[in-house]
Amino acid sequence: VSRFESITMAPPDPILGVSEAFRADTNEMKLNLGVGAYRTEDLQPYVLNVVKKAEKLMLERGENKEYLPIEGLASFNKVTAELLLGANNPLILEQRVATVQGLSGTGSLRLAAALIERYFPGAKVLISSPSWGNHKNIFNDARVPWSEYRYYDPSTVGLDFDGMIADIKAAPEGSFVLLHGCAHNPTGIDPTPEQWEIIADVIQEKNHIPFFDVAYQGFASGSLDVDASSVRLFAARGLELLVAQSYSKNLGLYAERIGAINIVCSSADAATRVKSQIKRLARPMYSNPPVHGARIVANVVGDPELFNEWKEEMEVMAGRIKSVRQKLYDSLRAKDKSGKDWSFILRQIGMFSFTGLNKAQSDNMTNKWHVYMTKDGRISLAGLSSAKCEYLADAIFDSYH
Ligand code: PLP
Repeated sequence: VSRFESITMAPPDPILGVSEAFRADTNEMKLNLGVGAYRTEDLQPYVLNVVKKAEKLMLERGENKEYLPIEGLASFNKVTAELLLGANNPLILEQRVATVQGLSGTGSLRLAAALIERYFPGAKVLISSPSWGNHKNIFNDARVPWSEYRYYDPSTVGLDFDGMIADIKAAPEGSFVLLHGCAHNPTGIDPTPEQWEIIADVIQEKNHIPFFDVAYQGFASGSLDVDASSVRLFAARGLELLVAQSYSKNLGLYAERIGAINIVCSSADAATRVKSQIKRLARPMYSNPPVHGARIVANVVGDPELFNEWKEEMEVMAGRIKSVRQKLYDSLRAKDKSGKDWSFILRQIGMFSFTGLNKAQSDNMTNKWHVYMTKDGRISLAGLSSAKCEYLADAIFDSYH
């Protein structure tokens, strides 16, 4: 008898488990709209040209494989903070930003969670309802208490702004408020610039600490600066804040696990101390981060020519998603004579569309139509081709009715 007898079978992951089920399906019409990963029009994974160019440069230089420092590659940490806050941001010049390279978005969030657990005992993290499914896991495993604030309003398939504000106001003073910097996952619904100002007002009033998750910079609007405007608005107010960054989507570096945690502090001295403690948290967890993805980012962002090429490629990716979004909407409009308003699909931004399909309807999408998606009704438009829009519209129309 095994010593591990008491260990029961874990349930499949609600997002990555969808890809496993997809791989097992032999139907040729099958479509994987579960995971948020960009595909070409032929539904193939895409390695950006700038990434290939950066890798070629790296190979030519014959760089070594020595350990990185605990905080990661210095040239990466520099450019990642600049990309987020803007190159000439006074916060950077005043050395008020503690930046530590993390294991992509997830690992960076996890480091911040460990910092909260150690130095803000009992403080709560407020998470949007709904949110990316892994947020709750991250804070649970770090033993950080959390609760939810209202975000999505099913009746309008839009933002429940009043509910959001009321819940942030009602939270205990000094809570961490987790915000999606842009392209909210799973809803694709972001606050307007005016709404961001009001959110910042309330956070400031309540002495909360804003905590941004930026996993889609450049992917929402096609512009890196526009997509960072929420974070920059908070930073310009002089607020201290946390920002986790990921290069999985915008540079297509999913498997390289490259991202960062940035802590904007009110003094250079505080930033130095915070950084030293984040390093202390990272050391026993994974010692130091991997170098390959960090070098790619440093090369692409640090070289004006590659940087411009990256922006062009990002616009192409964001543009392809926008065009299938439009096509899906057109197909649904043409099919559905009931007068149902499908325009929410066009209002949502980023990789996803939150269809409003419930669990039973999502099951129908998968079981009858071989369309794989998460059970919250989210579909990744990055996994949809123009050729399959019509088929997907049939599946959604059938599942709704
Ligand atoms: N945060 C959000 C909102 C996400 O959607 C994702 C990926 O789907 C991540 C963070 C982290 O992804 P990664 O760990 O690959 O950077």
